Amino acid sequence: MIIVMKSHAPQAQAAHIMEELKSKGLEPVPLYGVERTVIAVIGEERDLNIGHLEAMPGVDKVMRVVQQYKLVSRESHPEPTIIDVKGLRIGDPKVLAMMAGPCAVESEEQMQSVAKDLSKMGVRILRGGAYKPRTGPYSFQGLGKDGLKILREAADEYKMGVITEIVDIRDLDDLVKYTDIIQIGARNMQNFELLKEVGNTKTPVFLKRGLSASIDEFLLAAEYILSNGNPNVMLCERGIRTFEKDTRNTLPLATVPIVKLRSHLPIIVDPSHATGKKELIEPMTKAAIAAGADGIMIEVHPNPEEAKSDAQQQFTPSEFKELLDNIKPIMEAVNKHL
Ligand code: PEP
Ligand code: MN
Repeated sequence: MIIVMKSHAPQAQAAHIMEELKSKGLEPVPLYGVERTVIAVIGEERDLNIGHLEAMPGVDKVMRVVQQYKLVSRESHPEPTIIDVKGLRIGDPKVLAMMAGPCAVESEEQMQSVAKDLSKMGVRILRGGAYKPRTGPYSFQGLGKDGLKILREAADEYKMGVITEIVDIRDLDDLVKYTDIIQIGARNMQNFELLKEVGNTKTPVFLKRGLSASIDEFLLAAEYILSNGNPNVMLCERGIRTFEKDTRNTLPLATVPIVKLRSHLPIIVDPSHATGKKELIEPMTKAAIAAGADGIMIEVHPNPEEAKSDAQQQFTPSEFKELLDNIKPIMEAVNKHL
């Protein structure tokens, strides 16, 4: 950490701050300039209350040298984290984890049909929302616990893993029971109590980036889960809100290499929610794979026109099959398989 004093602040003020830092076990190294003093601080800065230092007399600004997150950082864990879900090694550099299924679980028939088609194509993780975080209260809210059971049965029938979203801590036991991966949706990325609770389980967590969260905030949200004891976290870039109106969200694919540089956690891309438009999903999937994504999440519905949510962006199984065929050369180029 670097503390910059105000110009011409009395030396006694810098001395006072240095005493305070020493009392906390840190080593301050002062640099006395003509106009101002700068204090370099050696030691663990994450536990310090920066606001308190900034408020001390004579302080102009305080700058962090290290990131606030620790457990999610690449420095603390140089090897990539690999999360085994029913034999699928998510985060393995040779694996592209493909997660597909409808936006929402709507019926047994729908889930059995889509699970059958997807499993034939080599997809090993089935998605489907049982609890839907809808913008308006009159939109379809999901089938709840019945939806969880339908999803689990369909996945079991075709030997697939399950990913589904949690929106309420009270459903956590059911989620742990019925799903292999718990999804935290974009709207709950900073629901810190929810993050702590899923951190108390061992079930893998799929954390989606918040609509207006910075990458640092995204990684700090993941830190909540790891610091509560659950190391099985994967991140998902699903687009952010910008002024651009041509896509549902704006998909910043630089998130993939940035997360790879800063963290050891797997990073997945969701081009369905990121673009909201069918015709953009395949090109963005190709770009995400080329950028180094560990997996892709795509919405697929047996009959998208009849879907109760996100009808405009869901693929039919045959459209999805075409995407799988078309991404093969990119997967080969980056040496990944499903
Ligand atoms: C979803 O994946 O079903 C979903 C609601 O996505 P997001 O949280 O990214 O909007
Ligand atoms: Mn959706």
